[in-house]
Amino acid sequence: MASKLTTCFVCWNLSTGFNCNHNSNNHRTMCSPSSKLRHRTTTIIVSSQQKRQYNKKTSRPSIHGGGSLDDSLQTPIVVPPDINNNSTPSALDVNGAERAEQLSDGQLEDLLAMIQNAEKNILLINQARVRALEDLQKILAEKKALQAEINVLEMRLAETDALIEVADQEKTRVELLEGQLEKLHSELAQKGSDAELYDLQNGVLSDANDTISSLTKELNSIREENASLKNEIESFKTQLNDVKDNDERLVVLEKERLFLESSLKDLESKLSISPENASELSTLRAECKYLSGKVENLQVLLDKATKQADQAVTALQQNKDLQREVDKLEASLEEANIYKLSYDKLQKDNELMQQKIKLLENSLEKSDEDINSYVQLYQQSVNEFQDTLNILQKESKKKMLDEPVEDMPWEFWSQLLLLIDGWALEKKISVDDAKLLREKAWKKDKSISDTYLACKGQNEDEAISSFLGLTSSATSPGLHVIHIAAEMAPVAKVGGLGDVVSGLSKALQKKGHLVEIVLPKYDCMQYDRIGDIRALDVVIESYFDGQLFKNKIWVGTVEGLPVYFIEPHHPAKFFWRGDFYGERDDFRRFSYFSRVALEFLLQAGKKPDIIHCHDWQTAFIAPLYWDIYVPKGLNSARICFTCHNFEYQGTAAASELESCGLDSNHLNRPDRMQDNSSHDRVNSVKGGVVYSNIVTTVSPTYAQEVRTAEGGKGLQSTLSTHSKKFIGVLNGIDTDIWNPATDPFLEVQYNANDLQGKSENKEALRRNLGLSSEDVKRPLVGCITRLVPQKGVHLIRHAIYLTLELGGQFVLLGSSPVPHIQREFEGIANHFKNHDHIRLILKYDESLSHTIYAASDMFIIPSIFEPCGLTQMISMRYGAVPIVRKTGGLNDSVFDIDDDTIPSQFQNGFTFLNADEKGINGALVRAINLYQNDPESWKQLVQKDMNIDFSWDSSAAQYEELYLKSVTRGRAAKRA
Ligand code: ADP
Repeated sequence: MASKLTTCFVCWNLSTGFNCNHNSNNHRTMCSPSSKLRHRTTTIIVSSQQKRQYNKKTSRPSIHGGGSLDDSLQTPIVVPPDINNNSTPSALDVNGAERAEQLSDGQLEDLLAMIQNAEKNILLINQARVRALEDLQKILAEKKALQAEINVLEMRLAETDALIEVADQEKTRVELLEGQLEKLHSELAQKGSDAELYDLQNGVLSDANDTISSLTKELNSIREENASLKNEIESFKTQLNDVKDNDERLVVLEKERLFLESSLKDLESKLSISPENASELSTLRAECKYLSGKVENLQVLLDKATKQADQAVTALQQNKDLQREVDKLEASLEEANIYKLSYDKLQKDNELMQQKIKLLENSLEKSDEDINSYVQLYQQSVNEFQDTLNILQKESKKKMLDEPVEDMPWEFWSQLLLLIDGWALEKKISVDDAKLLREKAWKKDKSISDTYLACKGQNEDEAISSFLGLTSSATSPGLHVIHIAAEMAPVAKVGGLGDVVSGLSKALQKKGHLVEIVLPKYDCMQYDRIGDIRALDVVIESYFDGQLFKNKIWVGTVEGLPVYFIEPHHPAKFFWRGDFYGERDDFRRFSYFSRVALEFLLQAGKKPDIIHCHDWQTAFIAPLYWDIYVPKGLNSARICFTCHNFEYQGTAAASELESCGLDSNHLNRPDRMQDNSSHDRVNSVKGGVVYSNIVTTVSPTYAQEVRTAEGGKGLQSTLSTHSKKFIGVLNGIDTDIWNPATDPFLEVQYNANDLQGKSENKEALRRNLGLSSEDVKRPLVGCITRLVPQKGVHLIRHAIYLTLELGGQFVLLGSSPVPHIQREFEGIANHFKNHDHIRLILKYDESLSHTIYAASDMFIIPSIFEPCGLTQMISMRYGAVPIVRKTGGLNDSVFDIDDDTIPSQFQNGFTFLNADEKGINGALVRAINLYQNDPESWKQLVQKDMNIDFSWDSSAAQYEELYLKSVTRGRAAKRA
């Protein structure tokens, strides 16, 4: 207990400042505080256990209110031992008041002094308390200011966050922009066609690239700054959180302060109640000290918060810098956008310019073509004009000659008659010619008198030929035309060539010309279509391979035309092969035939005006005629050569020419028969072009196409050299054979005014081929063709499937000489053999072809190239609307119903330009749409097509004109 007293007793130096009355009464009065103090002291001294109880009673309930508390605050208030200055353990005994009353005067004085000192100390404590209160006020004010700053900082922090977000978005945009620019750049780099534009673009692009790369660098540095700022802001945020914690701590401290204040007040009141209670004062002092410690702590925290606020201000400053960078970035982005826009514009301009260039090129090409055709037309019309002039002059001369010449003396006429008789007697002219000339003289014909006058200065031979010129013109009512060909429809037909030979011949015959045809006598001909075929009792010997071979001549009529069939008695049995073409020795077979045909004309004493040969098989005629038969006396004719397809040129080793008697050394030259791509080979078609007087092909467009490298198949330069005699004449069709109103192959005949018959033919074909007849309105698409690459076989195949997709039916009639194509189509045919809507018939079948034309609603011809094409004309005649690719003769005969540049009266079908699936899709879809959705327009289109004149009339007239001009020129040349 004593040791406890020593350590716990509050013994401050109270010797000063304590004034107390020694009077006992006074003492009582004056000492009442002392007694209180004493009483209090007694309470304090009691025990440490009691002290803890005291602490529990005073501190805890007032501070807590249930919350947690700092360790420092929980620590019981202990009186520091150094305060215990003058105390002696015996001075205050546990026996309390009785003992105090027994104190001596000296002791009392000491006590009073102590009390005075205590009072002084209380004063000092009061002053300290006031200061503490003032400090507290300051702290509170500072705290408020700090709080305001914190609020501002928080606001700025939110702003910074927003800015960071914007910067992030900008960053993504810039990345996107960079990606796009890079893509555009690579796209532009790929387009290297227009060098000038490319350079321009490159310039702009490199500028743009520089700007973009500098922008990118700037952006990257800003990004880095941004990242570091972000980090700083993060740390700042944590600091701010610390500040918040501090703030919370401040609140706690404030509470503590309030508590201490109340404790102080408590103490004050206690002091006022009991000034003697020195121990309580010491507790108060300790509490005060503790409080000032706390205040100091608070100050430190405040300093820390101020520092953090400073940091926040710096961060804010950095944020401002960041904002400036972001602004700069935005400006750069805007600039980049402008560059991008101008680049886009440039790109668009470029595209536009390229389109314009393309358009310009197209129109240039077109105008070139136009100019060419105009020049051609102009040349033609000049020639025509010249010819007409010549004819007129001739006619007027003839007229003048035909008129009797009355003013000549009789002597003149008598001398003339004697001259004629003399030539006749001397056998210089024939009896017949002499007779004709005599008649002219009797009639006093002006032509004979003029001829007589004109030949005064000539030698006898020249004079005789002039007089014979009068007889030949008098005896020929029309032209004598002989076609020598490998095909003739319908007896020997593989394709269009056969149709042309019979169609043109019939048309020329109708015009009053004598037309004959010479054909090989094939074993595979349709003999039933030949009228009165018989062998002549004559054998024609012809040269081949250094010897003469016998040939039998057969005659008969085909389509009312006189035809000579030549049957060679050659061991190779040239035309006993079961097929028309495709033999290994085709070059020998047809060079043999060409030679024997001319031999026949020579031996038959024929004097044709025109020998018309066709395609490579009979192109040998031209050089044979001039090199071998003119010298032999077959010299009346002009040679016309028609090439129906420049794809097939008939080339062989030059030496092979020798077989038919042609001189290969003489002919194997670049300007003669030498093949343009192989110098040790000869080219039959080239021979035809070089050695003929007239060269034609089968449509004007094709005549243009073959003068190009793509279409000429190597002969373009030859055709250009001989362009004056080269012309395209569009084929016609034999409208007697191809006539739905009379066609014997059809179930029902019909015409444009009665289309019911057409429906019945459709129904009949469907029935015959086993196709579904359920839907009458289902369109039927037809195709009749040789299945060769030229005909666009891949597009035909595509059209089959497309038609099915579009709800139509498809019928194909065709066969292929190309094994793999034949096999492929056999596969498709098998696949669809029982199909309701598709049928493929892979053979040649003339009668079936007629029924297909009649049954079809549309007819497809997707040729890659097409010299003329007949099927589009036949199909139109039968009311099947053509769907064709714009090439060659198809371009000259089919005009799109949706093409505004074509006058509506000529629009008759559907065309497409590109030889691809997209091209054909467009045309086929349009056709089926019109058929299904506008039956009335469709019907009108069908009727219009059926009424178009595709007869040979106009084409034959063109040939007639060509023949006549050439014959006239030939005669003029002979006379000259
Ligand atoms: P090309 O002469 O190139 O073969 P054209 O269109 O000029 O083509 O002429 C083709 C002629 O052949 C048309 O009269 C057509 O009817 C006929 N044709 C084509 N293939 C066949 C076939 N498989 N069966 C019957 N006739 C056919």
